[in-house]
Amino acid sequence: MGLWKREVWRLLLLAAGGLLVGWIVSYAGLGLAIGLAACLVFHLQRLYRLHRWLTLTPQAEPPAATGVWGELFDRLYRYQKGQRHTQERLLGIIKRIQESSEAMRDSVVMLDRHGDMEWWNSAAERMLGLRTSHDRGHHITNLLRDPRFIDYFHTRDYREPLTLRSPIDEQMVLQFQITLYGDDERLLMARDITRLHRLEEMRRDFVANVSHELRTPLTVLAGYLETYDTYADQLPPRFARGLHQMQEQTHRMQNLVSDLLLLSRLEIDRGGEDHAPLAMATLLESVQRDAAALSAGRHTIEVELVEPRALLGSEQEIRSALSNLAFNAVRYTPEGSRIVLRWVPGRDGANLEVEDNGKGIDPMHLPRLTERFYRVDKGRSAATGGTGLGLAIVKHVLLRHDARLEIDSHPGQGARFSCLFPAERLRSETA
Ligand code: ADP
Repeated sequence: MGLWKREVWRLLLLAAGGLLVGWIVSYAGLGLAIGLAACLVFHLQRLYRLHRWLTLTPQAEPPAATGVWGELFDRLYRYQKGQRHTQERLLGIIKRIQESSEAMRDSVVMLDRHGDMEWWNSAAERMLGLRTSHDRGHHITNLLRDPRFIDYFHTRDYREPLTLRSPIDEQMVLQFQITLYGDDERLLMARDITRLHRLEEMRRDFVANVSHELRTPLTVLAGYLETYDTYADQLPPRFARGLHQMQEQTHRMQNLVSDLLLLSRLEIDRGGEDHAPLAMATLLESVQRDAAALSAGRHTIEVELVEPRALLGSEQEIRSALSNLAFNAVRYTPEGSRIVLRWVPGRDGANLEVEDNGKGIDPMHLPRLTERFYRVDKGRSAATGGTGLGLAIVKHVLLRHDARLEIDSHPGQGARFSCLFPAERLRSETA
């Protein structure tokens, strides 16, 4: 406040001085005007210095001044210095982030809210073929044109990564992951998983080849055992028992090999060629008959069909999935249990489910139940004749039909296995 008082005093003194001198020479009005003009010139000169300083040498020390002007210059100088520091610090952070992203082996691409590319690291140039000067500002789908990527980009559901081949190198397999942040901006990351992909391919091929190679010797073995079995009554009981067990185990191995082969096929080929609208009533009734034969009258097996809408899928695969669920229900529920095979099409999708009122499964097992060879009760499962691959097959079949498996079970309250299909898979007519 003191500074402002001084400025007022300066104005009053100059006005009074001008007035006094003017009054002495009998031109009081002119004297006052000259006093005020002197004050105006003083302030204009300071304003001129401020303008020159800010436009020509804003980094330099401010011009010397006293009073309010001196205070104003100092404050502006300190504010500017603070701003410069913050700017340098932020630039340093951005540079460090860019350097660390640059050092990453994974591709990083920053996209704005429209999906246009703003910045990327050199790994992205190598893996995706981006060119700095040419591609900046272009939409990402102009460069990654695979329809699967375009779908993935537009669905905005980025919980699962997407695996695709690189657009510039057919041999390179990339795993894409998008993260939404800020004001609808996206961060696209791509990782080179070629080695992992090859290993996975080798594992699949190995299992498929071994299973295939085992099929012929097993068929020969089973054939001879069956022939010998016709003479079992001529053998001593000890040998007859052995022969019977050999037959049982060969049969188990044959089931195992055929399940392994089926799983490999489900994993290797893409599927979809034999998809047609399926008559669900016929399918459910046919599986009901097979399950009834396995149960041999020990269970009540029912079919519930709310509405006979068709499902677009592979007859062989859906039958295999449903049979696995129905046979499990027969194998793992005690005599007298009730099993229901149900088809419930609705507006948001359809549910193909198998429900039983058996002993149920402890919830702690549920997350791992679809893993290969995972069994709740190891000893009992072997005795039931299961291969340990049933639910893994179900899971793979459903994956190929855009569906998922939900298991709901509590000990003592039975189990419900629901296959949930999207509405796009429903058809009103069968083929
Ligand atoms: P398996 O060949 O052993 O039947 P699956 O993958 O088909 O292999 O099933 C995995 C395990 O899930 C089974 O070993 C069994 O313990 C359990 N299970 C499957 N279905 C049922 C059911 N309806 N009730 C109780 N347990 C079940």
